[in-house]
Amino acid sequence: MNAAPSERLTSRVAQSSASSDRPLDLLAVPGLRSLLLRRRWMQGPLLFISIVLVVHGFAGPQLAPKNLATLVGWVHSRGLLVVGLLVMGNAFCMACPFMLPRDLARRLHAPKLAWPRALRGKHVGIALFVGVLFVYEWLDLWASPSGTAWLLVGYFALVVLVDALFKGAPFCKSVCPIGQFNFAASALSPFEVVARDSDVCASCSGHECLRGSESSRGCETNLFLPEKAGNMDCTFCLDCARACPHENVGIVARLPGAELSEDRSAAGVGRRSARPDLALLATVFTFGALLNAFGMVSPVYVVQQQIASWMGTTSEGAVLLVLFASLLVVEPVLLLGVTAAISRRAMPRREPVVAVAARFSHGLVPLGFGVWLAHYGFHLLTGLWTFVPVTQKAVADAFGVALLGAPQWDRGGLTTRAVQPIEMGMLLLGAIGSLGVLWAIAKRQAPERPRAAFAPWGVLTVLLLAAAVWLMAQPMEMRGTFLQ
Ligand code: SF4
Ligand code: SF4
Repeated sequence: MNAAPSERLTSRVAQSSASSDRPLDLLAVPGLRSLLLRRRWMQGPLLFISIVLVVHGFAGPQLAPKNLATLVGWVHSRGLLVVGLLVMGNAFCMACPFMLPRDLARRLHAPKLAWPRALRGKHVGIALFVGVLFVYEWLDLWASPSGTAWLLVGYFALVVLVDALFKGAPFCKSVCPIGQFNFAASALSPFEVVARDSDVCASCSGHECLRGSESSRGCETNLFLPEKAGNMDCTFCLDCARACPHENVGIVARLPGAELSEDRSAAGVGRRSARPDLALLATVFTFGALLNAFGMVSPVYVVQQQIASWMGTTSEGAVLLVLFASLLVVEPVLLLGVTAAISRRAMPRREPVVAVAARFSHGLVPLGFGVWLAHYGFHLLTGLWTFVPVTQKAVADAFGVALLGAPQWDRGGLTTRAVQPIEMGMLLLGAIGSLGVLWAIAKRQAPERPRAAFAPWGVLTVLLLAAAVWLMAQPMEMRGTFLQ
C-alpha cells in the first residue's frame, strides 16, 4: 500500500537521520559556500569564452588545431566536463554559460506556457544527443571551426527560445543533450545536493527549496529536497540552497554509483523502474560511449568502406546512418535482450524481457562513464597546453600586437604512452563499478538466486570492457590538437 506523502517524508527523515554521520559537505567548508552560491563568477567567464569561441570559429583560421572553437570546444571543454563529473558533480551545468542569456531573455519575456506533457521525459534530449554525435561525425565538426561556431550559436538560440516560452526549466530537464549526458554521468559523482537535516525539513512549512523565496527562485527542475534521491535532473545550480531559509542544503559526499541500483520514488523523477526513458538514456549513454570512441580509431574506416560497398553508395551520411543504427540500436537490443532473457530465469516473477533489460541497463552506466572518461581524458591530456599558443596567436591577430607573447607552438601535452595506463585504469574502474551495481540490482530482483541473475550481466560487462580496451589500444586520431 502506498504511504501518504507526509508518512513517506517522515520515514525518509528517520532513515536519513539514523544514517547521518556527517560526511564531507562542500557548502560547510569555510569560504567555499559563498563561492559556490555565487555562480555568476563561473557563468560570466564561461559565457565570455563561448563568445570568443564563436568569434574565432567564424573569423579565425579554418584549421582545427589553430582555432579556439574546435580546440577548446572539442578537446578541453569535453575533457574538463567529465573530470568535473568525476571529482565533484554536475559542475558544467553549475557554471553553464547558456544560463545568463536565458535568464536575461526571461526578464524580457516571461514564459507563460507549460511544457507539453508528451515531451516531459528524456526523449527529446536523447534524440538531440544522438543527433549531435551523428552530425559531429557526418560534418567532421571537430575539423570545422565555423561548423562548431554554428553549433554553439544554435545551442544559445534553442536555450533562449525554449525557456523564454515555457515555464520551469524544460531545456535543462528535457531538451539539453549536454544536460542529459551530465544527468546520466553524475550518478557516478562523489557529491550530491541534499537536505542536511531531515528533522529541519520535517518542521519546515515554506518549502522554499522548491517554491522559492523572496531572494531566490526554487528548484526549477522540480526536485523537493527532502524527497530528492540521487543526481538525476539536478543541475547543481544551488537555487535551493540560496532559497532555503534554514541553511539546510549541502553538497554532501556519498558513494558514487549507489543510486543506480536503487528504485525508490524520488521527487521530480519518480522510480527508475517506471521511467523507460531513463533506461533508454542509460543505454544510449553506454553504447554511445563505445560508438563515439569507435569513430576515432582507424578500423572505423574499414567498416565504413565495407558498408558503402555493401550498400553500393558513396554517401557518407547513409553509411553513418547504418553504422549508428547498428551500434546504437541493433547491438544494444540484441545484447541487452539476450542477457535479460537469460537473467530473468532466476527471478521469482517472470517480468517481460524489456523490463528486465531496462532495470539492469542502469548497471552499465559506470562502464559507459569509464569509456567517456578514457576517451575525452585522452584528448584532454595529450592536448593539455595546446590552447596556449592558439590563444597567443588569436590575441596577436585581434590586436595586432603579441600581447601574450609569441605563440609557443611546441606546447602540447602528455604522450600517448603516458596516458594509456590512465585510460585503462578508467575503463577498469568503470567495469568494477558496473559489476557492483549489477550485483546490487540482481540481489534486489532475484533475492533467492542473485548469482544466476547476475552472471549473464557480469559476462556482458566483461565483453564490453574487452571491446573498450581494444578500442583504446588502437591508435587514436589526434583530432583537433596536432597538424596531421
Ligand atoms: S526549504 Fe530547506 S528546510 Fe525547507 S524543505 Fe527545503 S531544504 Fe528542507
Ligand atoms: S536540487 Fe534543484 S535547485 Fe537544488 S541544485 Fe539541484 S537542480 Fe538546483
